[in-house]
Amino acid sequence: MSTTVVVGSGPAGAAAAITARESGLGDVLLVDKAHFPRDKCCGDGLTPRAITALGELGLGVWAGLQARQSGVEISIGSHDPCPIPWPASTHPDFSIAVKRVELDQALHERAVDAGAQEITGRVSTVQTADDGTVTSVRVRTTDGEDDIACDHLIVADGSGSPVGAMLGREWYRDEMYAVASRSYVRIPDLGDHMRIAILPPTTPDDAMGYGWVFPIGDGWANVGYGEMLSNKHWPSGPRKSTRELHERYVEHLRREFDFGEPEDFASAPLAIGGLVGPVAGPNWLAVGDAAGGIHPLTGEGIDFALETGRAAIATIAQSPDDLQHRWPALLTAEYHNPYAAERFIVRTIGRHPGLARRVVPHLISSSWRGRLVLTTSAGLVAPGDRGLIAGTFRTTGAVTGRRGVPSFT
Ligand SMILES: Cc1cc2nc3c(=O)[nH]c(=O)nc-3n(C[C@H](O)[C@H](O)[C@H](O)COP(=O)(O)OP(=O)(O)OC[C@H]3O[C@@H](n4cnc5c(N)ncnc54)[C@H](O)[C@@H]3O)c2cc1C
Repeated sequence: MSTTVVVGSGPAGAAAAITARESGLGDVLLVDKAHFPRDKCCGDGLTPRAITALGELGLGVWAGLQARQSGVEISIGSHDPCPIPWPASTHPDFSIAVKRVELDQALHERAVDAGAQEITGRVSTVQTADDGTVTSVRVRTTDGEDDIACDHLIVADGSGSPVGAMLGREWYRDEMYAVASRSYVRIPDLGDHMRIAILPPTTPDDAMGYGWVFPIGDGWANVGYGEMLSNKHWPSGPRKSTRELHERYVEHLRREFDFGEPEDFASAPLAIGGLVGPVAGPNWLAVGDAAGGIHPLTGEGIDFALETGRAAIATIAQSPDDLQHRWPALLTAEYHNPYAAERFIVRTIGRHPGLARRVVPHLISSSWRGRLVLTTSAGLVAPGDRGLIAGTFRTTGAVTGRRGVPSFT
């Protein structure tokens, strides 16, 4: 009987643990340093694609009970927001927003119900053979330390990925990464749209920013602010603190909404656009944020986390051979082109903010172009989709994919 150790029980790790148990892969040990239920700094928004992935993990009914939105209102700079309904696609035509403490608990419970053995402890060391095969992980719990032997290791420990780092995973922050923050505010009459604001830089020292207001139900909203950064390319000056930027955005929102003091401020860095590597070794695979899979354009990564958690186990189940090449190849085939396109768009907005302020309102003002923007940024084009939107999406990806830096290497 083989043993799969999954480090991290966020969406990626829980999805892997559920799938491993359901595929009969043997014993599954789900290790997380946090005691569940636990919070995770996030915007709490789940795209239609993430809802599909939840359904595939047996949480479709649960997802249907959460606060749902029929579309997104997108604005750029000081322009009025433009409402765009979620397009009909192979995915549901709505999004949901649910606090991560609840989403991650639902996934964690599902994994344990499926037979994964939960261990509350921090993986502190990884033992490897000469060829890089992981033989065991050392887990520090409140009772002491224990070495756990494993046949396969799923690295699902988030953007910082300490376990990935032990295995040589690097995070290419010279290219692009993000830092984002969230808090909760009470806004009773928010309607049923997610709000996303694209905030191009206004001075050379500014980064390209984005803000959001996601209604999570019961009159509450998750509000947040993120910045796209690069250690090499931009911004050129010193950054303001993440808290300061968050407060500035919250004050900006007060012009439109009347709300009290924000609660539960938190911030974290985001590994975006597949700009990490290596993402696999002879018997280990990185999934979710550990594989750097957050969308550069939207800062959303739950869909990628759920999808790659499942796909990693399917890859092992298909054959345990040559994982070190098959996994990055699979991630590249599926995600590189769209991520390269998103990275290109983010970079263009960051470098040419004036142009972006003129072009984006034009882009989102027609229903066809609005649908194109939403379909592209939320990754809603499925492999068999045809038509102008799917064609434009694929062509843009193919062109930018050829020219951009590789992903997942
Ligand atoms: C401010 C902000 C807003 C965001 N908004 C959205 C959004 O609205 N929608 C969206 O789709 N995405 C959003 N994201 C991205 C999203 O949060 C991530 O893509 C998602 O959490 C990835 O899931 P994961 O399972 O890969 O990692 P995580 O959810 O980070 O889970 C990693 C787990 O690993 C555990 N762990 C770490 N190290 C160890 C160790 N050494 N030993 C044991 N356990 C360990 C941690 O305790 C944690 O539970 C946002 C991110 C941020 C920072």
